Amino acid sequence: MKIKIEQSNSSRLSVLDVEKLVFGKVFSDHMFVCDYEEGSWINPVIKPYQPISLDPSVKSFHYGQSVFEGLKAYRDEEDKLWLFRPNKNIERLNRSLERLSMPEIPEDIFYQAIEKLVKIDEKWVTKGNGKSLYIRPFVFASEPSLSAAPSLKYKFMVIMSPVQNYFNSGKHSVKVKISEIYSRAANGGVGFTKASGNYAAQFYPTNLANKEGYDQVIWTNSDYTLIEESGVMNIFVRIGDKLITSKLSDRILDGITRNSILTLAESLSMETEVRDIQVKELVDAAKSGDLKEAFGTGTAAVVSPISLISYGGIDYNLPEIKGDSYSTILKNKILEIQHSSTKDQFGWKYPLS
Ligand SMILES: *Cc1c(COP(=O)(O)O)cnc(C)c1O
Repeated sequence: MKIKIEQSNSSRLSVLDVEKLVFGKVFSDHMFVCDYEEGSWINPVIKPYQPISLDPSVKSFHYGQSVFEGLKAYRDEEDKLWLFRPNKNIERLNRSLERLSMPEIPEDIFYQAIEKLVKIDEKWVTKGNGKSLYIRPFVFASEPSLSAAPSLKYKFMVIMSPVQNYFNSGKHSVKVKISEIYSRAANGGVGFTKASGNYAAQFYPTNLANKEGYDQVIWTNSDYTLIEESGVMNIFVRIGDKLITSKLSDRILDGITRNSILTLAESLSMETEVRDIQVKELVDAAKSGDLKEAFGTGTAAVVSPISLISYGGIDYNLPEIKGDSYSTILKNKILEIQHSSTKDQFGWKYPLS
């Protein structure tokens, strides 16, 4: 596959203030676009970042056939560029696409699109701990038609946005509320995919929680007895010295950060358990003081410590996050690997030439 390149004749990089970045508001100079028609992916092109024009009847607007991914490119001290476990993103993208009755993206197109796009906008990958270029691949139905059947046309696009992570984990901890009314995902549904509609469905209950002073909702299963995810992140809890995360199901997103944190915790001889977490177990542990920590994991924020959990109208404060908290240790460890200041013993880094 040969990607056509239409180079932008000016860069917006000069107006970028990396220290004042708001997540996902600024985009790099170029984007990747590819069309799916008559059973194949065609017309791959990298062109200046710009609006696209779509017929009002395209199926993604009406029936939500739309999925996405998220990963980051990093620049190390020697100015080499890296991705983190991109093989996991293409595998997951194809699992999402299959469930939404959308055509798979061949691995070769995925890698070429990202490698060439990062290369052409490589100045947007800034150096320094916590700094990276967030890459957003997405696929959506582009056939103009209101017939309620899978689209015959799609677009695969990649856009990129520079991001800055915050370090002082204590200062950026979140307050969460365990859901006793709403659900994010259903048995047999699409909770395990990165379907756009999963996010739309979360906004309303999250807004209600925000109005009560909480940052995020801890999602539970359909009878509100099991802990599933925290906002748009996977969840870990530390009860005593055991680090526990919910086991995967069709309601839970198979997070790459979750998987990496589990591997890192085991390599550091922390005791880990992957199993169902009962709401009652968590609340009892919060009451008794056995709940030492809770945190969310995801590509954007990496590790996001929780400072307070609310359930049944009662707020439970968690112990203060310290240097020897599991969340701090694990966050530093994964960031060191991503930013190349420590050996990549698991072979997670993917070099960009
Ligand atoms: C993307 C996502 C995550 C985190 O996955 P990562 O691969 O770690 O970024 C967790 N939960 C949900 C619902 C998500 O959409």
